[in-house]
Amino acid sequence: MKIAFIGLGNMGGGMAANLVKAGHEVHAFDLSEEALAKAAEHGCATYSAVPEAVAGVDAVVTMLPNGAIVKGVYTKDVIGKAPEGALFLDCSTIDLATAREVAGLAEAAGYQMVDAPVSGGIAAANGGTLTFMVGGSDAAFEKAKTVLDPMAKAVIHAGAIGSGQVAKMCNNMLLAIHMIGTCEALALAEKAGLDPQKFYEISSKSTGYNWSLNDYTPAPGIGATSPADNGYQGGFASALMLKDLRLAMEGAQTAGASVPMGEHAKAIYEAFVEAGNGGKDFGAIYTTL
Ligand code: NAD
Repeated sequence: MKIAFIGLGNMGGGMAANLVKAGHEVHAFDLSEEALAKAAEHGCATYSAVPEAVAGVDAVVTMLPNGAIVKGVYTKDVIGKAPEGALFLDCSTIDLATAREVAGLAEAAGYQMVDAPVSGGIAAANGGTLTFMVGGSDAAFEKAKTVLDPMAKAVIHAGAIGSGQVAKMCNNMLLAIHMIGTCEALALAEKAGLDPQKFYEISSKSTGYNWSLNDYTPAPGIGATSPADNGYQGGFASALMLKDLRLAMEGAQTAGASVPMGEHAKAIYEAFVEAGNGGKDFGAIYTTL
């Protein structure tokens, strides 16, 4: 297939490279010259404007920072410029209202669109092992799966358009909550006189079992290897977790859902990021307790 790929940053760079490896012709565009040069090294054809990159393609994939940018790119340079009938896949994590609005505009102009945000960080993007949660019609999903498979460990049809973003915001709200809870339990165990390694051994096999504790233990030298063992460098930045929590709180407000723990998690990450820790892995909350 001919696939335009817009947004070749930390995530998009590796994703586009995996599409090339799968035999697709990838037309790449990014505002950053450096990102474009890397994409060229990985075998992408590079373009200096979006309308040129999307001309003649079967599908357009976007991996961009936020909803305003996604909306700007599609309304200004993709809708009406890509061939009619082309499939659009927005893999960015954005707010639900914008995801639905952009898909509505695309469909009204004769395109198919899915929202397909991902779980998994930069390593999964590079390794082709992302989990995609996809919102869109059955027909759009079937086509989207072909495009997403080379970048994926799993591609799951979440439901109608926007459902991918709903899944993403709920998943990451839950992740923030169990990460903070895990940090609190580890710190409490130690302060109350229990070796945190012993606590890990017990709770990881008890009802306290969860991914943050078992697979990403946020205390240095304890349990599973994680960014905690590397000064909280790499991993999933607290600033990105805060972005996702803000999207979840917006989504909860729109849906009229009560999310007191989500609100609290957002406040905790807000304070942490404002104190200058936005670049640290989100498990670094442990250091504040
Ligand atoms: P990034 O900032 O590294 O990359 C974004 C890229 O978009 C940059 O290269 C930037 O130059 C480009 N860009 C910005 N505006 C543009 C425009 N108008 N036209 C073309 N290119 C433009 O961000 P990232 O870490 O790759 O994240 C991308 C998306 O993936 C975000 O929505 C993020 O929330 C989501 N995400 C990130 C991770 C992660 O671990 N980094 C994990 C899951 C999901």
